[in-house]
Amino acid sequence: MNFYSLNNKSNKATFKEAVIKGIAPDKGLYFPESITPLPKSFFENIDNLSYSEIAFEAIKQFVEPDIPESILQQIIDETLSFEFPIVTINDHISTLELFHGPTMAFKDVGARFMARCLGYFNQNNENEVTVLVATSGDTGGAVANGFLGVPGVNVVILYPSGKVSDIQEKQLTTLGQNITALEVDGVFDDCQDMVKQAFLDTDITNHMQLTSANSINVARWLPQLFYFMFAYKQLHNQYDNIVFSVPSGNFGNICAGMMAQQLGLPINHFIASNNENNVVSSYLNSQEYMPKPSVQTISNAMDVGNPSNFIRIQEIYNHDFDTLKKNLSGFSFTDAETREAMKELYNKYNYIADPHGAVGYLGSKAYLKQNPSAHCVFLETAHPTKFLDVVEETINTTVALPKQIQAVMNREKKASKIGSYQELKNYLLMS
Ligand SMILES: *Cc1c(COP(=O)(O)O)cnc(C)c1O
Repeated sequence: MNFYSLNNKSNKATFKEAVIKGIAPDKGLYFPESITPLPKSFFENIDNLSYSEIAFEAIKQFVEPDIPESILQQIIDETLSFEFPIVTINDHISTLELFHGPTMAFKDVGARFMARCLGYFNQNNENEVTVLVATSGDTGGAVANGFLGVPGVNVVILYPSGKVSDIQEKQLTTLGQNITALEVDGVFDDCQDMVKQAFLDTDITNHMQLTSANSINVARWLPQLFYFMFAYKQLHNQYDNIVFSVPSGNFGNICAGMMAQQLGLPINHFIASNNENNVVSSYLNSQEYMPKPSVQTISNAMDVGNPSNFIRIQEIYNHDFDTLKKNLSGFSFTDAETREAMKELYNKYNYIADPHGAVGYLGSKAYLKQNPSAHCVFLETAHPTKFLDVVEETINTTVALPKQIQAVMNREKKASKIGSYQELKNYLLMS
């Protein structure tokens, strides 16, 4: 399939070009030229389909012909090598746990899928590609893990010094090989700005092929639509008004859910659950879109002041505010409210949530107040031990470290500090 740039629809790219470039030369995000819904029978028959079959059918139209079917099948099977369980909280709320992958956050699926696509496109190793990525915490680890050892691909990760959790930092700074971590003296938005500037800098782009592994990249973004289908498969026999509450930062995950909806998944509504970085939930109330600098919270992967995928959401709903509002509610919560939610989940339902999942839970509760017949599924986007300090002090108990996390804790951090764009540029030009 071809993808067009959201800055100018006449600028087109194949899937392969879109993956390798990351962002269009005119700096627009890529968007699929068409979306053909899956047949109704696909959803009626979903009980009889495996996760791998669901994923294959759902993403095939977007990647063909650049990825042949047999290769796509292999990429999907390798990508989905862990569980996606639903846990029931109460009659009206369930959670979809997306943290059973190697770095224990939902970004594993997108990162693993993208790494394998890029590895396939680059199998003859003719032109090395450098993946340049800014992380607020979880992207870095998932991308580092997903791309480790992929031939012909180098990964450079920028993360804000002191603003990610210890475990997140270990996950992105200890792998070595083709993975480099740059520790930026600043906040996430500074990292993201530096990455954007590098993509615009011809000194750099003439020197190397840069791509992004943020959800800007279609191969990172689109596979996330699988989650919503997997949840539907598990719940549709029990509930007929399923609504997803998605803890949102750059809005890639929720926007992928909306793509699943475009493919025919019988879902009527989404909830954008935000921390105090609430540009989108404010927009839904005021119709004024006002990006602002991000503020630091305990759900740091959502500390985003200007969500990159919001433009794709607008495209999906034809830039029509009323259509958007029909499909999307937004709520924003403080850290104090998030901690109360973590306590409630633990004390009342014996469920240990990480701060991001807790924001999703709060979004579900807020929506249910107005729509009591819905069944809300909040996405639990990270394992609670990824935010160990906050979780343990909030619910006042200790949480055991899973084996994936134990494995990285003893490794040695290797990161170079940078304080300015010029330092990033020097680093890239020297490599
Ligand atoms: C990245 C991330 C989010 C936000 O996802 P977006 O696709 O950027 O909206 C939420 N929770 C966790 C744990 C994350 O790592």
